[in-house]
Amino acid sequence: MYYADEIIEEIRYSNDIVEVVSEYVSLEKKGRYYFGLCPFHKEKTPSFSVTPSLQIFNCFGCSKGGNVIQFIMNIENLDFVEAVKLLAEKANIILPETGAGISEDELVKKKNLIGINKEAARFYYNYLTAGKGKEALEYLSARKIMKRTIKKFGLGLSPLSSGLLLKHLNDKGYEDRLIVESGLAISGNNGIYERFRGRIMFPIFDIRGNVIGFGGRVVDKSKPKYMNSPETMTYNKRKNLYGLNYAKNSGNKNIIVVEGYMDVISLHQSGIINSVASLGTALTESQGRILKKYFDRIIICYDSDAAGKNAAMRGLDLLNDIGCNVKVLEIPNGKDPDDFIRNNGADRFNNLIEKSSSLAEYKIRELKKNYNIETTDGRVAFVNKMAAVLAELDNKIEMEMYLKKLAGDYGVSEESIYAEIIKLKGKAAFSPAFLKKKTDVRIKTGTFDKDEKEIIHDELLLIAALCLDNNVYGLIKDDLAADDFTKDNRVVLKRIFERLNKNERVVAAEVLSSMSEVSSCALAGIIDKECNFDDGRKPLDIVTKLKKHKLMARKKEIFEILKNRESLGEGDVEKFTRELNVIVMQMKNSEIKTRKEGFNEAKR
Ligand SMILES: [Zn+2]
Repeated sequence: MYYADEIIEEIRYSNDIVEVVSEYVSLEKKGRYYFGLCPFHKEKTPSFSVTPSLQIFNCFGCSKGGNVIQFIMNIENLDFVEAVKLLAEKANIILPETGAGISEDELVKKKNLIGINKEAARFYYNYLTAGKGKEALEYLSARKIMKRTIKKFGLGLSPLSSGLLLKHLNDKGYEDRLIVESGLAISGNNGIYERFRGRIMFPIFDIRGNVIGFGGRVVDKSKPKYMNSPETMTYNKRKNLYGLNYAKNSGNKNIIVVEGYMDVISLHQSGIINSVASLGTALTESQGRILKKYFDRIIICYDSDAAGKNAAMRGLDLLNDIGCNVKVLEIPNGKDPDDFIRNNGADRFNNLIEKSSSLAEYKIRELKKNYNIETTDGRVAFVNKMAAVLAELDNKIEMEMYLKKLAGDYGVSEESIYAEIIKLKGKAAFSPAFLKKKTDVRIKTGTFDKDEKEIIHDELLLIAALCLDNNVYGLIKDDLAADDFTKDNRVVLKRIFERLNKNERVVAAEVLSSMSEVSSCALAGIIDKECNFDDGRKPLDIVTKLKKHKLMARKKEIFEILKNRESLGEGDVEKFTRELNVIVMQMKNSEIKTRKEGFNEAKR
């Protein structure tokens, strides 16, 4: 079950945390807090507090904390979705299966819009199959689309002139106003007219098989070649995937994502029903999350032209960011999947699937095209870029595997890529076994853990500061990017930065919804215990501290590397020493700056 963020947010703020908690705990107001005996651990004096202004709870005793949804999860022992459902019921918010929190009136309207779309799909299908569209049928048969496929996907044809569909829908009892709202008609100066005329119609289904919109393709050479329904109450192109209503039942753990309707239809007709099309060019995060729910691996198969490649690249990063296992399938000779299957058959397409590349392989292959690795300059630039791609990999073993393989594939030294990755990510990017082999440097995990804990704490402190005062973002945005943060916080901060960039408000209780239990408890605790920023200086201190953490960690790494200078080349020793000097200088500068600022403040 999947709910849109906005609905979760609506449910959260429709349930006042004091009211909800009061049903379980007897609370007493003290200043800006409410206190009570913690329901999550045994205690005699209250250490459990609720802050109504922030809509969060926190326990000093057992460190449980979070927003109202997390309170319900803990106290009722429910998972996130079930807790959301319970709170929706409490607030009388209708939570239909689609996940759109809408009123009863809107629900009726939505049913009508789906009804209109269904009637229209029938009308278009009958118009095509009754032999009204010779050209359209010729086009489909030229593309080897069979009758049963036309039926399965409900393909149809819209009449060349406006009027017939409108009359049909009016006869079925649908008013013009609603037909315009469905996107099938447009209201103009001389009344309303049909949007789709003389086009092959592809009904777009939601995951349960309701018709929610249409794509229309011209039969001749006129433009635009494709036209889609506008966004309506039923049709959101960012949240739907063409063919998913069938693909989700394929029983296959791989899903192939292609660009167009015809690609999906072709694949399904060839028996490859684990395929869908994104309804715009690039995949959205919502689509990625939906796919992740049903499939283990996502195989992107876009057209080989530049637009297709760019779209694929964007889709890959996005899917990778939300934790999907992604592969790329490239079709030889710049063909699209539909062309390829028509000419080569499904078996050869299946062979391509077997040979699809991983994200890193694909990216590096694309990068390689920009560099001439026969020259020294070209090779150095390429190695740097390759290292950046590898450094992105979260899985150390995978990274080491690629490092070996790619060094071999492109004839560059393993050591040079390795040195670059260390520069970008630090030594922690590699597994201990690999490091031992490379430099024989032992890692002191104990001290690292302690540092990491402190870093994570300071990062959460910054998140807290941002949530409590959105203006803090202005103070830090030039100095820190989401990528500077540790893994879990990076995801959270990315979302916060995105929102703040769009001038949208961010509040703590909402941010908590998107965090793991450990992080949300920690954040709620920090907000309660450590956040009394009155003078606006504290957030800046945190930024300085976070930057210092980064430099310190890197300094330590270089020390370790240089301890073993015998195993390094002459050039490497010089390079690391130079970097070390730069870091020491940067740290000194920031100290001077901080001291100066302190001095100025004392003078004031
Ligand atoms: Zn407690």
